[in-house]
Amino acid sequence: MKIERISHKTLAEAVAGKLVASLVDGSLKPGTQLPPERELIIKFGISRATLREALKTLEKHNFVESRPNVGWFALQVDQSNLTRAKEMAGRNGEQADRPAGSEPPTGPIRVPIAPDKPIRIPNLQKDRLGTFDFISWWDREKVQNAKVMVVGAGALGNEVIKNLALMGIGHIFIVDFDKIELANLSRSVLFRETDSNRSKAEIAAARAKAVNPQVHIQYLNGDITTKMGLGVFRRMDVVIGCLDNREARLAVNRFCYWVNKPWVDGAIQELLGLVRVFIPGQGACYECTLTEQALRDLSLRYSCPLLARQNILLGKVPTTPTIASIIGAMQSQEALKLINNMPVQPGKVTHFNGMVNEMHTTAYVPRDDCESHWAYGTITELPARVERTTLDDLLRIACADLGLNAVIELDQELVTKFECSNCHTVEEVLRPLSEVTVEAGNCPTCGVLREASLTHVITGEETFLHRTLASVGVPPLHVIRAHNGEEYRFYELTGDLADALHFRDFESTIKIEDKKGNHIRLKDKSQIKNGKEPSVLKIRSSRVRLRD
Ligand SMILES: [Zn+2]
Ligand SMILES: [Zn+2]
Repeated sequence: MKIERISHKTLAEAVAGKLVASLVDGSLKPGTQLPPERELIIKFGISRATLREALKTLEKHNFVESRPNVGWFALQVDQSNLTRAKEMAGRNGEQADRPAGSEPPTGPIRVPIAPDKPIRIPNLQKDRLGTFDFISWWDREKVQNAKVMVVGAGALGNEVIKNLALMGIGHIFIVDFDKIELANLSRSVLFRETDSNRSKAEIAAARAKAVNPQVHIQYLNGDITTKMGLGVFRRMDVVIGCLDNREARLAVNRFCYWVNKPWVDGAIQELLGLVRVFIPGQGACYECTLTEQALRDLSLRYSCPLLARQNILLGKVPTTPTIASIIGAMQSQEALKLINNMPVQPGKVTHFNGMVNEMHTTAYVPRDDCESHWAYGTITELPARVERTTLDDLLRIACADLGLNAVIELDQELVTKFECSNCHTVEEVLRPLSEVTVEAGNCPTCGVLREASLTHVITGEETFLHRTLASVGVPPLHVIRAHNGEEYRFYELTGDLADALHFRDFESTIKIEDKKGNHIRLKDKSQIKNGKEPSVLKIRSSRVRLRD
């Protein structure tokens, strides 16, 4: 056993040492005024006499100067007092003085201390996030401006949402299509018995707002794979997956890749859990981690599309609130690190084994042929909305950009018709696959499951070009792909922005946003007449003109 001597510093010496350390590490710049004495007294938790003693010591060694009736000011540390400064600053000073290159090659990475983070003395009586200002790398502005999407509001999602609200993550978008049942209450800190049968996303959002009314919240009661516009993903800083199935994870993974967003995945079962951060272009993605068998299982499900969605809802795994806390906490921390530009370990997985309390991190191998590794190019923001824009409108815009052989690729399969092999009847459907149940596939005449015709490519030959994008399953603020066999273009329905992304659910005062101020950007060849929202998009001599 090694016993180290206890330092015999007085309180005043300790306070002086801390202030000198700020001078040495550059966080207290020469010439700047120190916070008022009463704030320093609160911050250090000391008496006025002790503070005066500390300041007198600093003054004696030319670290600060007093300007009568103004306050205390920091002075430059130079050769005359540098040695003393390091002595007084103690360990802090030594660390700040060490060049960055001298870190040991292995072991944990030291977090750089933001050199210009101003000393901010929070009012802990009035400022609920004040304590976080004492954390060297905590960037209050970044955290308050951050936009985070939480996909899934189950056991993990409850923990993550609670943590994000406590930490004051400024904007939280909660997505879940499920309803609360009594069995959820054993693992969900945000749900109450009276919430039974209510939307998980809505209740979690309302409770997060109650946990911290300063955060701005929005929720979507819908399926992430089909109901969330890519434009929402595009405007997030981090996406957190709190999911219990591969299909949804795969969808989130691809969406995040398309618009280059980091996402944090978590998974739990009994006392086991894992956390992993995926960043496009940095190591493996979620799809890279899937085995050949898992990929085959997924494509098998897609080959019988009507049954696929039903199967997803089965096969729930048992979890405990404790493992949800542990993994949810780790996910929240990874998101916080991403927001503060701290180092994370993308493409790796951290396993936690609660049976033996072991944790280990390993790297996945990225797959060269991974289908997820696609990123969208420049996205054209159209002042158009899914509810009013037809397939024909969009195809015309695509043709203007890409030539007459342009086609639109929808993300979701469209069921065009049912054909009965038994009684040979045909029924026109024209609804997105996600809205068609297995029951609807049964023949009303003879009861057998009919053959569904699907399409997701719109060529211009279709008989249903007059249908709106919304009616064929395109979610608001989505980004739609078009191509001509050689080149892709990407069009966002930016007219939906104010409705699809506002973060104002449960705000006591809801302001109506001026829809003209949506920062709509069109390419040169398109014009917006009078800034009005177009009802029809029309082509004239291969130029797109918006008719009002
Ligand atoms: Zn991949
Ligand atoms: Zn039939």
